[in-house]
Amino acid sequence: MTMTHFAWQERLGLLAVMFAAMTWAASALASDFNACLQALRTEAADKGIATQTFNTAMTGIEPDKSVLDAMGSQPEFVTPIWDYLAGLVDAERIADGKLKLAEWATVLAQAEQQFGVDRHTIVAVWGVESDFGKVLGGRPLVRSLATVSCFGHRQRFFRGELIATLRILQSGDMPAEALVGSWAGAFGQTQFMPSTYQRLAVDFDGDGRRDIVGSVPDALGSTANYLQRAGWVTGAPWGYEVRLPPQYNGPSGRRTRQALATWSQLGVRRIDGSALTGSWPAALLMPSGARGPAFIVFKNFDAIYSYNAAESYALAIAHLSDRLRGEGPLQTAWPTDDPGLSRAERRAVQEMLIERGFDIGKPDGIIGSSTRSAIQAFQASAGLPADGRAGARVLQALQAGAPPGYENVAPEPQVPRFE
Ligand code: CA
Repeated sequence: MTMTHFAWQERLGLLAVMFAAMTWAASALASDFNACLQALRTEAADKGIATQTFNTAMTGIEPDKSVLDAMGSQPEFVTPIWDYLAGLVDAERIADGKLKLAEWATVLAQAEQQFGVDRHTIVAVWGVESDFGKVLGGRPLVRSLATVSCFGHRQRFFRGELIATLRILQSGDMPAEALVGSWAGAFGQTQFMPSTYQRLAVDFDGDGRRDIVGSVPDALGSTANYLQRAGWVTGAPWGYEVRLPPQYNGPSGRRTRQALATWSQLGVRRIDGSALTGSWPAALLMPSGARGPAFIVFKNFDAIYSYNAAESYALAIAHLSDRLRGEGPLQTAWPTDDPGLSRAERRAVQEMLIERGFDIGKPDGIIGSSTRSAIQAFQASAGLPADGRAGARVLQALQAGAPPGYENVAPEPQVPRFE
């Protein structure tokens, strides 16, 4: 009894120490932040931001720790390229994209004429960047960018983005409440960074404002302008799928450009076996090694790549643009026995997990940590390797129904008993 009482007191003491440490950390963060905002105020003023613009934007602003967590987090789960493409280029996005091509045909024709970038590529960027304006990111830009301007390892870069954001507010192009986006500051239908917006956004509906959040024509025109400035070659393809000779071990990679004749000599052919076509230097991409799909890519692939500096991302846009043109799926299978799922299939996996009693929230097609944990538990109970991956194998196992003797409920909670 005495021991218990003592332990309880000790524990309370420890809690008090911990609480004091947390409070201290929070107040240190706040005082660092306030000092940083003072420095930013001076820097913004030097760069032409009016005091009133700065004050209105910054009033009551506090650092957002979740932004720092997002910046520092390593992905716990590396997405294989076949999962990435299966979600980004699925039947739903192709169908939605075709509807958008029809809906915005006039604007897209104007963008083709003015910037020389074809409508399928513009719409593919829109679809991959924001699911055609449906997923814009929900973090207030000023708060996120103020946080990473004051903490973390890229403060100098983000200060430039913060000042570009203040300049948008000062111009009146978009209202403050429209400026929400990713933790890093990408925003709008086409997910521009604020400095990219300043350089390249255009007023394409002619209302005098550059509004890539609320105006689809402004967003589509700005994307076309971006790609043109990134070196787009009008009328040229991004590339195409190719067939490699058996045991190919020659050069590859986006930076290794060679004449098509050189690739031909190495035995590379179009996927249907015909000779390579085009009159430009090209690179050979093998995103999953020599066993998976391979692609010859030209300059327009690089223009798409410059949008987000990831090959998987550029490939998703490139392939989606082909599908919007009416072309078929990739011919070569990815080197996996557990292919990726479309968003509809991911939702089906989630629905079946929910039916089995897993508490994973709404079936939204986004495979987060709670869905992965539920998949793992299901896999373990079904005698499958418990890797937590939402692939074709788990979908099939769920569709096939529970194995005999399978019971999926979380273990009975331990009810504490008092004496
Ligand atoms: Ca406009």
